Order: sequence, then C-alpha cells, then structure tokens
Amino acid sequence: MTVSPASTSPAATPEAPKPSTLPSNFLRQIIEADLASGKHSQIITRFPPEPNGYLHIGHAKSICLNFGLARDYKGICNLRFDDTNPEKEEKEYVDSIVDSVSWLGFGWGSEKSTDQAHALFASDYFDFMYQAAEHLIDRGLAYVDEQSAEEMRANRGDFNTPGKPSPYRSRTPEQNLERFKEMAGGKHADGAMVLRAKIDLASPNINLRDPAIYRIRRATHHNTGDKWCIYPMYTYAHPIEDALEGITHSICTLEFEDQRPFYDWLMDRLLEGGLIKQQPRQYEFARLNLTYVITSKRKLAQLVNEKKVSGWDDPRMPTIVGLRRRGYTPESLQLFAERIGVSKSDSWIDYSTLEGCLRETLDPIAPRAMAVLEPLKLILTNWEEAFGSAEHLEDCSAPVHPHLPDLGKRNFKLGKEVWIEQTDYEEIPSKGFFRLFPGNKVRLKYGFVIEVMGSVKDAAGNITAVNANILKDTKSGTPGSDAVKVKGVITWVSAADAVKAEIRLYDRLFKTEHPDAGGKDFLEALNEDSLKTITAYVEPSLANAKPDDKFQFERHGYFVADRVDHKSGKVVFNKITGLKDTWAK
Ligand code: ATP
Ligand code: MG
Repeated sequence: MTVSPASTSPAATPEAPKPSTLPSNFLRQIIEADLASGKHSQIITRFPPEPNGYLHIGHAKSICLNFGLARDYKGICNLRFDDTNPEKEEKEYVDSIVDSVSWLGFGWGSEKSTDQAHALFASDYFDFMYQAAEHLIDRGLAYVDEQSAEEMRANRGDFNTPGKPSPYRSRTPEQNLERFKEMAGGKHADGAMVLRAKIDLASPNINLRDPAIYRIRRATHHNTGDKWCIYPMYTYAHPIEDALEGITHSICTLEFEDQRPFYDWLMDRLLEGGLIKQQPRQYEFARLNLTYVITSKRKLAQLVNEKKVSGWDDPRMPTIVGLRRRGYTPESLQLFAERIGVSKSDSWIDYSTLEGCLRETLDPIAPRAMAVLEPLKLILTNWEEAFGSAEHLEDCSAPVHPHLPDLGKRNFKLGKEVWIEQTDYEEIPSKGFFRLFPGNKVRLKYGFVIEVMGSVKDAAGNITAVNANILKDTKSGTPGSDAVKVKGVITWVSAADAVKAEIRLYDRLFKTEHPDAGGKDFLEALNEDSLKTITAYVEPSLANAKPDDKFQFERHGYFVADRVDHKSGKVVFNKITGLKDTWAK
C-alpha cells in the first residue's frame, strides 16, 4: 500500500484571500488609495534579486510581499534580475532563483509564467541606461571624474562638512561626452574614472553629493558577455529598470530610504527629458531578521565555501533550497510571511514563529506513520501460545490521517519481535512514568495490550531486550479492546516488516540568537551538534515514500524523505521539526 504524500510538487499559486480578509498594512493602504483615486488602474511590483547567491528566508518575505500584493490587487509582479555586477553574478544563481520563486508558488509578468524566458534582466536595459547617461551629460547633469577613489572619498565631505568640487566638475558637456565615450570604448583602465551625476555637494544627504553612476569594469557578463566594459551603478540602474517596466510601487528594504531622493531626482530628470513616461515610487519596509539565523549572502556563502554545511541546500541553511530540503512547504513560508506582516521599523522575529507556521500547515495534511528512532527489542514471549506459531503475523492498521478518513488506512504486521523506543522502558519507573516497566500494562498502539515481565541483560548489565506477554483479546478495534484500561500507549514497529532508515536529526545551525551581532565572528556561534545521523526503524509503508514526501512520525515530529539522498532501497529522512516548540523561552 502506498501512502499519499503531503505536498510533493510546487504549490499552486495561492488563492487570493477575500478582500474582507486582506491583512492591512501601510503598503496595502497606499495601494488601495492609489487604485481608488485612479492614480493607477493596475499595480505593477517587482522582485529584483541580484544573481550573486541563493535566496534565503528574508527574500522569501520579499517575494511573498511583492507577488502577494500583485495577486491580491489583480496586478503584475516582475521577476527581474539586478545583474549590474558582472564579477559576482552567475547563471547558476539565476536558475536557482527562478526555481525558488516558482516553488514558492508564484509566476511573474503579465503571463504569471514560471518560465525563465519571462524573467527580466537589468542587463537588457544597458543600452537605454547608456543613452540616459549621455542625456544627463548633454544637459550638464553628469560629468566624468578622474579623481582617484581616495580623493573622491576625501572630497565628499561628511555630515558636518560640505563636499569639495572635483577639478573635473566644470568640464563642458562636449568634453564629458567625449570622455564617457572613451570609457565605453575601452580606452581607459578599470577604475581610472567614473561618471557622476551632478547634483549637490552640500546636500545633507551624502547620496546626493554627485553619486557615481557608471564605472569601468572589464568583466565578462553572464548575459552581455564582453559587449560592455562600463557598468551602471545599482542605484542608477534600479530606478531606470522600474521606470521602463512601468513599476507602480517599487518596494525595498529600509537601507534604501536614503537613496530615495536620488531615485526621485533621476526619475524627475528623465521625465523632463522625455526619456521615460511615468514615475515609479519607492517604498521601504523593514527587512526580516530572524533569531538564530544569518541572512547575509556573503556569510551564507562562507558557510558553504568553508564546508561548514554540505552546500547551499543543506537542510540547516536558511536558503529557500535548504528550507525546502529540510521539509518546509511553500504554504508554510507563505503563512510565515503573512503572519510577520510588514512594518517600517526593524525588529527580530523569533525562530519559533517560523516553525509554528510549519506545524500549522503540515499537521492537517501530513500522513502519520510510526517510527522507532532509538530501537530496543521487545519480545512477546507468549506469542506462540496465543497464535499457535512463533512466526504468526497479525494484521494491524491505522488511519493515514486521523482527521482525513478519505486517505484510508495504512497496514502493517505485528509479530513476536517488536522494536520500541529505549526511553519507553524503565527498569525502575521514575515518578509519573506510565509506559513500560515490570508488571505494568500498556497498549501497543493499533495493536494489543501487553504486560511487561522484565528485561534481558548482557554480561555488562545493559538491557538488550524487554519481555512481555500479550493479552490476546485486547486488539484495537475489537470489542475486547476496552476491557483492560491502560495509561500508556506506545508506538512501535514490528521487527518482521520494519524498514531500516537513515534519519538525520537537525538542530539549529547557531547556538545564539544573534550569531552575527556585536562584531563577533559568527562562526564561533556555530552549533557543533546541529546534525546527528541515526539508524532507525520505520513503518513498512515508508519504503514507498517518494523524495519530498512529508510525514508526521507519531510522538516524534515531522519528517521528510530527503529530496537528494532518499531512493528506493535507501530510505533517508530529515527531521523537519518536533511536534511542539522546545525552544520557547
Ligand atoms: P546584497 O547584499 O547582495 O544586495 P540582498 O540580500 O539585498 O543582498 P538582493 O538580491 O539584492 O540581496 O535582494 C533582492 C530583494 O530581496 C531586495 O529587494 C531586498 O530588499 C530583498 N531582501 C533581501 N534580504 C531581505 C530580508 N532579510 N528581508 C526582506 N527582504 C529582503
Ligand atoms: Mg541588495
């Protein structure tokens, strides 16, 4: 018999909630007002990752936000790669980002496609960006600066001191245009000069003190190859990308608040010049900070490169591929994003919130199964007497899911020898212990009541097995099952049909709530015990589990068949999380 798995494939795009149940937040209020006033007839948002790493849980928040707003207000969300940094960007990252966004349940563009062909790239607009730069130069709004990086920094001034003009600031548009063309033509060395916007050297906002908008960098770009040796700066490129795509609400994290004046300056200038037709608006929200988790791409890359984890998809990684391999579902991450909401002030979200969303979404759908993680042999000594043969196997069954009768039953055997948990037996019972101890009666769940006789020990005194007798007329589901009252019900698997499984027990990757706080080396906070691999026995139906199938192992928690290593003949499960939060303060 096969057990129907919980959510194996990419989720369908989540249904839009009914308007009356839409959560309220400042972004929704802005959008609702813009739609009501007719400022926009349709909203267009975007998710703009830089393809320089794998997406993480913080990006998941941004994805659910941007795509979720487009979904709820019948708009469009673009997946756009901000690929303006050729040295750090790679096709591998583009592919994995496409995969992660579609796995989360979202499609992009007006087609709501999950096809990479419908993703957009900043590099597709490089020609336009170049023309826009020439336009700014023409109007005396940009100049080529040949100061060294140090000189530029020194002359920028600080909060108390206005910037000093570069000796090159007063060049004519013609001189600047010629120089800029030389930059693009490869006449000058990397770093020899930059193109700067000419704004205001006395501005209290440092970002307006003539920010660089183009630099020389000889690097092969994953999309444009060697066509360009100059690349636009992110802060210049991003507003242009938004404008060309007709983005109505450009939503980013709070660090970009100080960039908004430049964003607006550039849009105003290009609008005046007739280069763009509408002005996108930038709105900032607080990024996700999650306790026990690092969301810096650089540090995540370090964990991978220094082999502290097995790769980007290590089940302990907060990357979307890692969370997926760990057993997180798109629904659980969508619920998490919804629950944490959006605000304008930074805060920390407790890790238990994420795990709570997982339990809430898995519990109603995950098929149940029994597994014994620390096996101890239980011998039913009167088996032959009860059933006429020591080899007799008794058919037992249990619901696949206690609240979903339509999923049917799972079947397994009970025989003379059974695996139970070591912790379910105590020779001398501690206070309040009502499972197996000599003289006590307990129920083997979905099986019989048994009475414990005692244990078998090796020469060193270690318990190697437990002996018990079954009470024959007490089988679950038969009229006699209520005749004997017991306090303890224990899970088990039969030695006759149990399947051996490798089980990877994961714990948090970091020991401390804020692993990278206070300038400490975050590697010092690594939890050395975050992975423990054990051999366990699981119910026979689990031999048919497919990679990514998720189950609740009764009494133990949620487990997923590892999407990489689990195959027929080699059963490998990852622990997703326990049944209850064991970390709550
Ligand atoms: P980098 O330092 O490489 O720029 P990044 O995390 O900002 O790292 P991007 O690829 O630029 O990576 O991010 C794509 C989008 O995801 C951006 O709009 C960014 O604001 C958003 N984002 C990144 N980290 C978080 C986070 N922790 N919470 C919410 N949104 C985030
Ligand atoms: Mg960024």
